[in-house]
Parts: sequence; structure tokens; C-alpha cells
Amino acid sequence: MSFIYNYPLIKLNTFGMDVKARRFAAFASVNELQELLNQWKASAHELLVLGGGSNILFTKDFEGTVLKNELKGINLAGENESHFFVKAAAGEVWHELVMYCVQKGYQGIENMALIPGCVGAAPMQNIGAYGVELKDIFEELEAMEIATGKTRIFGLADCAFGYRESVFKHGLKNKYVITSVTLRLNKVPKYNTSYGNIVQELEARGISDPNMRDIAEAVISIRRSKLPDPAQIGNAGSFFKNPEVPLEQYEKLKQDYPQLVGYPVGHQQVKLAAGWLIEQAGWKGKTFDGYGVHKNQALVLVHYGGATGSQVFELSEQIIRSVKEKFGVTLYREVNIY
Ligand code: FAD
Ligand code: NAP
Repeated sequence: MSFIYNYPLIKLNTFGMDVKARRFAAFASVNELQELLNQWKASAHELLVLGGGSNILFTKDFEGTVLKNELKGINLAGENESHFFVKAAAGEVWHELVMYCVQKGYQGIENMALIPGCVGAAPMQNIGAYGVELKDIFEELEAMEIATGKTRIFGLADCAFGYRESVFKHGLKNKYVITSVTLRLNKVPKYNTSYGNIVQELEARGISDPNMRDIAEAVISIRRSKLPDPAQIGNAGSFFKNPEVPLEQYEKLKQDYPQLVGYPVGHQQVKLAAGWLIEQAGWKGKTFDGYGVHKNQALVLVHYGGATGSQVFELSEQIIRSVKEKFGVTLYREVNIY
């Protein structure tokens, strides 16, 4: 296996940033991954394991080694009375895994239809949408330890999943390459349609007793109507996380801003809709030279072409500053910056 030098990444990141990797290779088996990691270790360069590039902002050329994950395969790994266990290789496209489960009737994953990217990145930030997170259907994952090449199985407790968080973004950052994920899906459906406007979308379609496919199709339709398609406009989805603030701070803000959007997290914290804060701070739809804030969803920063990742990053800094000034709330980025 050999590396390609100065490899263009423009088609491998959904922001469409025109940057290069100093060295690049793709792996389609665990053995190939091991071999590439051994070669990489001889260099003193940074390593980046790339899935679909849909949660990344490149602010400059990547001066290290990029390894593109092309591990493929989905299979039913087992079942018991109540659950199916589906194992997917890390290079599988997440949405294709969702549609595979919908087609087979493996229930629990349908609210997460159309999230871009690969299976192997899903545990990184415990992906979630419409009231379901990866952790809700997670059984285990396999990962290769970069330092030793050894395989380790991680159960739910090992992953320390939180809101857009996991151990792989913190204590074990850059220590493992995730090679497969096994999901635990229901035999007896327990649908969750209470989030966002799924119910309204189903009603508009004349569906009162939805099945898994109906819900997946409703989610797909809502997402297509609200979110920019990275194939048309560069973006990485929500650029910021929804901030959680103490109940007291929320109540005070609510007095000043009665329209404030917040959802309780436990008894003492409230999650604020970051998109609403950014919109109120005047950023929604703002366009600069080739980049800006999306016109329908202020949480999404967009790249129309010709801009750099550092310009988008600087915009994110300005947004953080202005939301802090107006509301006293700190926004944190969800997108990984390189
Ligand atoms: P990449 O961008 O390739 O990688 C992301 C990070 O994970 C990088 O640090 C990378 O090094 C690391 N990584 C990737 N694969 C591995 C691996 N196998 N082992 C170790 N590390 C790895 N996210 C949500 O949670 N919910 C949403 O609803 C959602 N909607 C989105 C909508 C749009 C239009 C877009 C563009 C993005 C959206 N996202 C959403 C963000 C993104 O889709 C997810 O974070 C997704 O899991 C990223 O997958 P990826 O393969 O593209 O990861
Ligand atoms: P939305 O439905 O307009 O809702 C705005 C925000 O309010 C969302 O971010 C969501 O938080 C929260 N929310 C809505 N209903 C809620 C409820 N019943 N209980 C608790 N919180 C609630 O949001 P949207 O932008 O169209 O996105 C819809 C879903 O897709 C959300 O779950 C969102 O996270 C997900 N999404 C994620 C990304 C990404 O890149 N991470 C991109 C697009 C969409 P949560 O975000 O915490 O769910």
C-alpha cells in the first residue's frame, strides 16, 4: 500500500474547501488499515481518519496523513426475543444503513434518516436527530488502537456518550480508529414522532398510523425542505451545538426575550436552540464573499464557493462573540476544525 502526495480534498469534505492532504491513502480492510498505520507511525505527522467529511472544516492544507475509510459490509449479527443486532462496517454510508434497516423492519433508527456521513463517525459525536441519538440503539463497536494495532470492543458505558459527545472526542481522542458499529434494533416497534414537526408532516400526508418507512420518509422530506444539500451548497450541518444553561439563567433570559426557545434537560438545565439565538443576533441569511449563514437555518454556515475555511472559521468566531454579547450565552462548535 502506498500514499498519494498532495492529494486534493475538495470532493472529500462537504464544505467543499479546496485544500490538499500532504499524504493520502484509502483502506478497504482492517489489514490494510493496520499496514497504513504502521507506515504512518514512521512519520511524525498528524493523522486524520476520514469518513464522509461532513463534520469537518478544513482551514488550511492538512500537513499530515489522511486515511479514507472504505470498510464495507452490513449484516445481521444476531437476534434475541426482542431485538435484532445489526453490524455495519465503519465505511458504510449512514443513510444507507438506515434504509437497509427500514427495508428489513429493524426498528429504532428511522428518525436518523438522511444524516450525512459514514457509520464509523456516528459514535464520534453520538449523532442524533428528531429525538433519537446513536446511544439509544447502540450495542457495541470495534475499534483499532492506533498505537498497538489491537482491536478493542467498546460497550455503551465505555463510549461515554453525551449530547454530541463521546469518549472519542475527549479522553480517547486520536487513539482509536472505529472499524464497525453494532446496533440494537427493536422487533416490536416503539415509534417516536413527538419531536419537531414529524407529526405535522405525517398529517399532511394523511398518515395517522405510521410505520417505520412513513416516519423515515417524513424525516427525509422535512430535512430536504430545511437543510442545504451539500451537493449544492457547501456546509457541515449545524456548526454549533445547542447550548445548555442553568434554569435560573433561562428564566431570566425568557423575561427579556419571551420568544426564547428552550427545552428542559433534567430539572436544572435548559437546552436553548442555538439557531434562534444566532437569528436574533442578526446573522440569519447574512452572505459575504462566497460564504455566510444559511437563509433557512441560522445554525448552518455555508460555503457557496471560492471562500476559505479560515474565513468561515472567523465568521463562527464573530457569531460566538455576538451571541455572548447579546444573551450572555457561550456557543461551542460542533464541527471539527482542522
Ligand atoms: P467526518 O466528517 O469524515 O469525520 C468527523 C470526525 O470523526 C473527524 O474528526 C474524523 O477524524 C472522525 N472519524 C471519522 N470516522 C472515524 C473512524 N472510523 N474512526 C475514528 N474517527 C473517525 N450530525 C448529527 O448528529 N445530526 C444531524 O442531524 C446531522 N445533520 C447534518 C446535516 C448536514 C446537511 C450535514 C452536512 C451534516 C450533518 N450532521 C449531523 C453532521 C454529520 O453528518 C455527522 O457528524 C456525521 O456523523 C459525520 O460523519 P462523516 O463520516 O462525514 O465524518
Ligand atoms: P428544529 O426542529 O427546528 O428544532 C430546533 C432545535 O430545538 C433543535 O436543534 C432541537 O434540538 C430542539 N428541539 C426541537 N424539538 C424538540 C423537542 N421536542 N425536545 C427537545 N428539543 C427539541 O431543528 P432542525 O434544525 O430542523 O433539526 C431537526 C433535527 O435534526 C434536530 O434534532 C437536529 O439536532 C438535527 N439536525 C442536526 C444537524 C447537525 O449537524 N448536528 C443538522 C441538521 C439537523 P436538538 O438539536 O438537540 O435535537
